[in-house]
Amino acid sequence: MSEELTRAEQLKKDLFAKPANAAKACTPAQIKEADYFCEGYMNFLDAAKTEREAVEEAVALARANGFIEFRKGETYRPGEKVYYNNRGKALILAVIGRRDLSQGTRITAAHIDSPRLDLKPNPLYEDNELAYFKTHYYGGIKKYQWTVTPLALHGVIVKKDGETVRVKVGEDDADPKFVITDLLPHLAASQMKATMAEGVKGENLNVLIGSRPFDDTDAAESVKLNIMRILFEKYGIREDDFLSAELEVVPAFKACDIGFDRSMIGAYGHDDRVCAYPALMALLDAETPEYTALCVLADKEEIGSVGNTGLDSNFLSYFVCDLAESFGLDGRDVLSRSRCLSADVNAAFDPIYPDVTEKRNASFVNRGCVITKYTGSRGKGGTSDASAEFMAQVRALLDGHNVVWQTGELGKVDEGGGGTVARFVAGLNVDTVDLGVPVLSMHAPFEVVSKLDVYMTYKACLAFDMN
Ligand code: MN
Ligand code: MN
Repeated sequence: MSEELTRAEQLKKDLFAKPANAAKACTPAQIKEADYFCEGYMNFLDAAKTEREAVEEAVALARANGFIEFRKGETYRPGEKVYYNNRGKALILAVIGRRDLSQGTRITAAHIDSPRLDLKPNPLYEDNELAYFKTHYYGGIKKYQWTVTPLALHGVIVKKDGETVRVKVGEDDADPKFVITDLLPHLAASQMKATMAEGVKGENLNVLIGSRPFDDTDAAESVKLNIMRILFEKYGIREDDFLSAELEVVPAFKACDIGFDRSMIGAYGHDDRVCAYPALMALLDAETPEYTALCVLADKEEIGSVGNTGLDSNFLSYFVCDLAESFGLDGRDVLSRSRCLSADVNAAFDPIYPDVTEKRNASFVNRGCVITKYTGSRGKGGTSDASAEFMAQVRALLDGHNVVWQTGELGKVDEGGGGTVARFVAGLNVDTVDLGVPVLSMHAPFEVVSKLDVYMTYKACLAFDMN
């Protein structure tokens, strides 16, 4: 047998695209590095289940790496590291680059909020001697997934005098947990006939929080009273203090390895901490980059990037303008010469549900970070759609730094769709494209990613920050 390639084989080799598999492309040493990187990521996941906790963790990591609070009007030299904490719920970090700021910045932008159940302003009630919290779900969820799973309560209660009480119950092994009950199959005949969207109703996502009456009394609402007594003793709060609170119900379990080969991570809130953490770590590792590098960790992406901590507000452009003024520049000029990786997840191809993706343009677990040129729905509606020119720059950059990467669309045409913060950053006249980690079971209480894809996202962010 000749080992020479036929003309067709040679041409095929030259001309056809070759999808890389990170698990095959990486050396054992790189796989070890990826696994090590992901140990840090899993600690971050467990410590930061809400946007506030993610900001706290990120600020602590940044300060430990020499970042100081940004001061408007101050002058900064190359290599200096600053951060701007927006109300404890969003964060911008910057490392001043070698080149003049007038040449633009490199921005990585990820979000640190995840789908969850928020307590209503008036959440506490008793029904048939059981006490509950009423919730209003936050972000896109499949409601049935949030029943019969152990839940924790995180957040803050701010009293009228301004005192902030922090709440975190359900994370320690010794802590109690909470749960939303579901019907037994024996009595679920009509529920099982409902659609999956209707089987569990949003108004029924009520969290079970107690069952013992105060003082064994038969008085009305004595179970509720007992809960309120416990909350008063523990937090010094009264019922109306729930009005000024942000209490978030999240899964109580911790991140863990998935698979006999430990190649994947199962956890709550990969979307989008799985991009926020690599983007943050890349910036912490970016020593005096060429261009000033920014990392933005935003809130409220899951409900449309709204509010003053979401990226559809001015907090990013105000920061860049303030920074530009320090250098005697106009913020608009800096923004219009900037580039951004909108670091967000994409849906990984799921062999159990192949029909919702178009295989030639889907992202796959273990094929590296995924560049998503556009998101949107029904004819690219609502997406910023990265330009051919910027796509060319990004793919050259990734190939030049041995990043294993792939492209992906968010599902089949007209199957559904979604969006990211990309369009809000692009709206500031910044060249922007989505890059992140493919996720299985996205938006479920327990999502799955590949460790190699997480690591490749870090490598992509670092290459982007440094160039
Ligand atoms: Mn996301
Ligand atoms: Mn999401």
